Amino acid sequence: MEELLRIVGVIPPEYFFNKYPHHLSGGMRQRVVLARSIIPKPQFILADEPVSMVDASLRLSILDLMMKLNRELGVAFLYITHDLATARYIARRGRIAVMYLGRIVETGVLADVFERPLHPYLQALLAAAPIPDPKVAKKRKALPLKSLEVAGADAIPIGCAFHPRCPYAKEICAQEVPQLEDRENGHLVACHRAEVIPPWHLM
Ligand code: SF4
Repeated sequence: MEELLRIVGVIPPEYFFNKYPHHLSGGMRQRVVLARSIIPKPQFILADEPVSMVDASLRLSILDLMMKLNRELGVAFLYITHDLATARYIARRGRIAVMYLGRIVETGVLADVFERPLHPYLQALLAAAPIPDPKVAKKRKALPLKSLEVAGADAIPIGCAFHPRCPYAKEICAQEVPQLEDRENGHLVACHRAEVIPPWHLM
């Protein structure tokens, strides 16, 4: 226990032995959860929104801890999030996959996926992300989506699930589910029209 708490930065461990969860901060509780998760010496941990309830100032330290466990103990992480900023941070050392209505629409290494996005959904997502520099923000154009409505999980559109919203949709998009195809060195995209969609020039 003592060693585990040291690994995850809950120090000095003996100070925490008799604490209850409500005595700990959100960040400390997340560290204890990580300590508990590595007891069985896992090769893989699925971390679903692990920092969403943690104060913003502590998020990076938890993500850094996950990367430390990856580096030092060889644990692989599948990090699931809605937060582009933390996804960008943690994917520096791995691959990133973007999902729309339950399917992966684009995947690859961070530099390819976030800097040269090919799928219109990802282009729209990145165009909507806030930019701190107003001069850069002014130049960025939003992708003109046909609809702002996202279908429910019980009514996923046939064919490409994004077609009711996609400005590039053609007939085939409403008929066939596009499969992931390698466009360049492991940068995969699921889009019937990936080769004709203009590159993302919004940055
Ligand atoms: S498959 Fe068609 S609808 Fe889906 S993202 Fe590509 S162009 Fe748009």
